[in-house]
Amino acid sequence: MSKLMNTYTQFPIEIDHGHDFHLVDTKGKTYVDLTSGIGVCNLGYSNKAIFEAVTAQLNKIWHTSNLYPNSIVTKVAEELAPDGYQAFFCNSGAEANEAAIKLAHKATKKETIVAFDNGFHGRTTGTLAVTGYPHIHSGFDPLMPAVKMATYNDPAALDEIDENTAAVILEVIQGEGGVNVGDREWLQSVQAKCQDTGTLLIVDEVQAGMGRTGYKFAFEQFDLVPDIITVAKGLANGLPVGAMVAKDEVAANFKPGDHGTTFGGNLIVMSAADQVLQQLTPEFLQSVREKGAYLMKTLHEYLFDLPGIKSISGEGLMVGIHLDDSTPVNDVITALQDEGFLTLSARGNTLRLLPPLIIDESSLQAAVNAIASAVDQVEEMEG
Ligand SMILES: *Cc1c(COP(=O)(O)O)cnc(C)c1O
Repeated sequence: MSKLMNTYTQFPIEIDHGHDFHLVDTKGKTYVDLTSGIGVCNLGYSNKAIFEAVTAQLNKIWHTSNLYPNSIVTKVAEELAPDGYQAFFCNSGAEANEAAIKLAHKATKKETIVAFDNGFHGRTTGTLAVTGYPHIHSGFDPLMPAVKMATYNDPAALDEIDENTAAVILEVIQGEGGVNVGDREWLQSVQAKCQDTGTLLIVDEVQAGMGRTGYKFAFEQFDLVPDIITVAKGLANGLPVGAMVAKDEVAANFKPGDHGTTFGGNLIVMSAADQVLQQLTPEFLQSVREKGAYLMKTLHEYLFDLPGIKSISGEGLMVGIHLDDSTPVNDVITALQDEGFLTLSARGNTLRLLPPLIIDESSLQAAVNAIASAVDQVEEMEG
């Protein structure tokens, strides 16, 4: 029996190394990666500038604690936080959301947090409480109290937001929950209700941010102005990191001693994040939007009429292919692995694609062909 705790369902593939947007397993088989390690290695596996910055930092010093200032941490905060916002660094998406929840309580002196079904915010006792899938709560009570769950994209959800609400937490595109794109008008009305009731809007950009949808932050395309933004996954291209970014006046509620974490702002990690942020140029983001449009068009052309497909959703290079019940997503994933493509699932029998943002159009075309034949094959077998 393994000494490793049994917390993940795993595929029998051990990845040995990678280059660009390809991964190679220990048997020497090469895959086109459509996962980025779950939206993390957005700039791929052989980014020279990141490699050189991290190597240089490894040769200097790895860690100094937050008792001393460091210019690279300040620089990453400058690059990450929009004008009028400040950043706090931690080590994961869940920690970023924990920090956001704590700050919202401190800033508003209010208790309730409103969150949405199919939203995913992490696995700590606080962030699990605002994660909207009841089945992963089971056995872990008591979680953080004073959470109200509401229905995503439903106007009735606004009734849950009132004068006692400290914050609303949401993803503008729900990732784990099934690649559900927020309705623009609805998101705007949630923001307006937050403003009316003195509630902070926390937008969780852990998956959709850092260029994934062709914008630095996915909320930009919905014209939102969140009070607090959380990021993690893609921020350091594979080194563990999280950040909470809050409006100056909200951030001012945290004083020395109110919050912290040993590894937050680790110098190796920050040297990678600095490079990632420098590479999210307007031209690069534009190229992601173009690839995203190409992928969506190609998916519609090749997949839309297949019996196993219900619908396709997403923005940029964050895409969900919703399969009908006769086409189990895990069978499609396995068939695609055989053909040399790594993919992900999401809630609701959804095949999820989060390719490295540096992927090229011919590989996207090859992936769409492979997905079409995998869906066909599984649908015929099961259906
Ligand atoms: C992955 C994810 C998290 C949790 O991040 P961890 O680093 O696993 O703690 C939170 N929110 C969203 C939207 C995510 O996709």
